[in-house]
Formats: sequence, C-alpha cells, structure tokens
Amino acid sequence: MPVLHVLNLGAGVQSTALYLLARDGAAPCDAAVFADTGEEPAAVYRHLAHLLALGGPPVLVRSADRLGDDLLHGRGGTGRRFASIPAFTRGPDGRVGMVRRQCTKEYKVEVVDRTVRRELLGLKPRQRVPADVTVYQYFGISTDEAGRAERGKRRFAGVRHTVPVYPLIDRGWSRADCVDFLRDRLPYPVPKSSCVCCPYRTNPSWRHLRATDPAGWGRAVEIDAALRADGSLVTRGFRQQLFLHRSCVPLAEIDFDALAPHTLDPLAGECDGVCGV
Ligand code: SF4
Repeated sequence: MPVLHVLNLGAGVQSTALYLLARDGAAPCDAAVFADTGEEPAAVYRHLAHLLALGGPPVLVRSADRLGDDLLHGRGGTGRRFASIPAFTRGPDGRVGMVRRQCTKEYKVEVVDRTVRRELLGLKPRQRVPADVTVYQYFGISTDEAGRAERGKRRFAGVRHTVPVYPLIDRGWSRADCVDFLRDRLPYPVPKSSCVCCPYRTNPSWRHLRATDPAGWGRAVEIDAALRADGSLVTRGFRQQLFLHRSCVPLAEIDFDALAPHTLDPLAGECDGVCGV
C-alpha cells in the first residue's frame, strides 16, 4: 500500500464537512480516525454515531484511555505517567498561570499515528515505515484557522512518510462555509467537539454544557474538584492550585450567568481533533 489517505476526524464542524466531502467522493479517504478521549459531550457521541451510520469511508474510533479517569487517578494515557491538560493555576501570591498541555499529544495525535502505523500499515511497534509509503493526513482546518495549518506543516516537516493536507483551505472554505455546506446534509447543527473538562472552554461554552448535558457537566465538576483534592497525584509537584476555569474558582461555584463572555480562547472552545496543531 504505497499511498494512504487518512482523515483526522474530530467530529466538529470542519472535520465533519471534510468527512462528508470525502463521502461525496470530493476528497480521497481510505479511513477516518476519531481519537476518542472518552470525555466528549453527549451531543458529539450522538453526532459520531450518526456519521458512522451514513456508510461513508470507514471510521476507526480509537482511544488511548479515558482522559478524565487518568486525571482522577494520576496516570498517563500511555500507562506510564500523568499527561496534563492545560489547567489554570493560581499560586499563593494570586498569580494565574497555565499548565503545559500534554493531553492532545497522548490522547489524540499519538492515537491517530498508532492507528495508522499498526492498523492501516500493519507495522509492528518501532518498525520503520517502508520508504515507498506515503501517508496523506487530512485535517479539517478552515481558512480562518490558517495559523494552525502552518503549525501542522511544521510538525510534519521532518516526517519523511507523512504529508499533511488541508482541503478546506485549498477550497478557500471558512468555518461559515462549512456550516453552510452541512446545513442541508445533517438534520441538526454539528456540536462543538472538545473534552467536557477542557480548560479552553469559553464562558458561553461552559454555560451551554451545563444547560444541555448534565452528565458532561457533572463530569467536568468532578474532574475540576479532583484537581485540588488532597493527595491527588495530578497536583504532585505543583505549589499552585489547579482549576478548569480561568477565573481559578471551582467550577461548581461559578455563576456563569453573571460572567461576560471572554475572547481569549485560542481554540474558540473547540478541539476538533486538531488541538495539537
Ligand atoms: S479538548 Fe482540551 S482537554 Fe481535550 S485533548 Fe484537546 S486540549 Fe486536551
């Protein structure tokens, strides 16, 4: 198999548009991979089930582990160590910071890479990709996120056998164009994909989660509290307290209705499978 076309399916607006383009035959796709952190909102899993039922290119749903369980138990997706989410920190002097993000790499990027190597190329662990194989990895990144595409190109710059492809940018499609494309193809608006416990969420996104997904909201509150629990392995090595919300207030205590929406969110509250680039 010298050439493989693999779609990174995050199941958000852009990667859904790309998947349906592939289903229409407008983009090559041998398989789509959904790297499941186990922590998506219920609406994203419903949407994923709908996509699976459409009968398009095969969708491989693969997971390193359940991210929130690993946070609760202080272990990593690889089973070796704890991988951090970009939680907010508040030190004794009140200064706010952010923890280095490792979750994307372990729960998304490496899951896709492992699926490509082991399942689609049939390689053993650490076996080299044959010199004549080229893997085209397709990303649902639109023109309004061109900076992410550039970062993605840099990430693959030294990888001999993998070429990142951005068909939405090639078509000149913005996120709004994707929404237009999807309007007649799906019986509902595509939900935003990102972990329920993602600290990148905006205030409207937190509010929406609380109003529409009681289980997802409860899970986020549980994980937020666990970040500060006595003896938590997650906080080992930190002098600061960790929080999911940028105000550094426990999630359950925040009056979201009184908070203004903020615009500091680099992902607009969405991960869509490419929060690593
Ligand atoms: S959505 Fe947020 S918490 Fe989940 S993998 Fe991406 S950056 Fe990490």
